[in-house]
Amino acid sequence: MTREERLKSDPVWAAEYHRKARERQRKRMSDPVVYEEIKRKNRERAAAKRPPRVEVTHKACVTCKSVFPATTEFFGPKKQGRLKLTSSCKPCMAHRERERRKDPEHNKKHIAAVYRSLKKRLATDSEFRAAYKEKQAERRRKRRANPEYWERELAKDREWRKANWHRVKLYKHKCGALQVFHVMQRHAAKLKATPFWSEREAIAALYEEARRLTEETGIEHHVDHIVPLRGKNVCGLHVFANLRVITADHNKRKANKLIEELLAA
Ligand SMILES: [Zn+2]
Repeated sequence: MTREERLKSDPVWAAEYHRKARERQRKRMSDPVVYEEIKRKNRERAAAKRPPRVEVTHKACVTCKSVFPATTEFFGPKKQGRLKLTSSCKPCMAHRERERRKDPEHNKKHIAAVYRSLKKRLATDSEFRAAYKEKQAERRRKRRANPEYWERELAKDREWRKANWHRVKLYKHKCGALQVFHVMQRHAAKLKATPFWSEREAIAALYEEARRLTEETGIEHHVDHIVPLRGKNVCGLHVFANLRVITADHNKRKANKLIEELLAA
């Protein structure tokens, strides 16, 4: 019986034979000289099989099949590969990305992944963290300087209040006492800030003007203290010169501290 025949007919012997063969192979490979020799031979064999390299000047996009010069002008850069270019052309890649972004599931995953890596880096790299904070602050400053941003935000706020009116109502109910306190505090501050020479009629006329504008335009108007009554650093007076009529939106947006920043500058 030849070895081939026995390997086919006797499974127990065959298993033992293969085990021994593997053992021999392992022993041979453990010698670094032999191992290097085998690797070199494999490389040579692979090189012999490979067709000769030609200078690649053009490349077909795998998506749209059009052929473009193989440069970063037409294909995105990539770390791997011989050409170090993406397999699809730039327009195809952009299209794919746009399509991907239409899928909310993908967006969620993508955003989650981005935040994960960002969090990791913020936790480990202090230099990056400082730079990141500065960048965020700059972006915030830019955003807040844009009046359109406030219009958008206030519109969002109005929408939210409309949709969640019951919550607003509940909050007002809960915080009613607190609100009364604030109103009274403001009232007291106003009284304190009213010097005896204040022009009561003129001020009353301003309030009347605000009411009239609200009625006529349908946009709520308030009487605003140009320098706030209860600022941190400065306290304005409740006098005619410190009052003006503005829209409610504008009034709400102008937090007390904003004007102080202006005065400090
Ligand atoms: Zn393409």
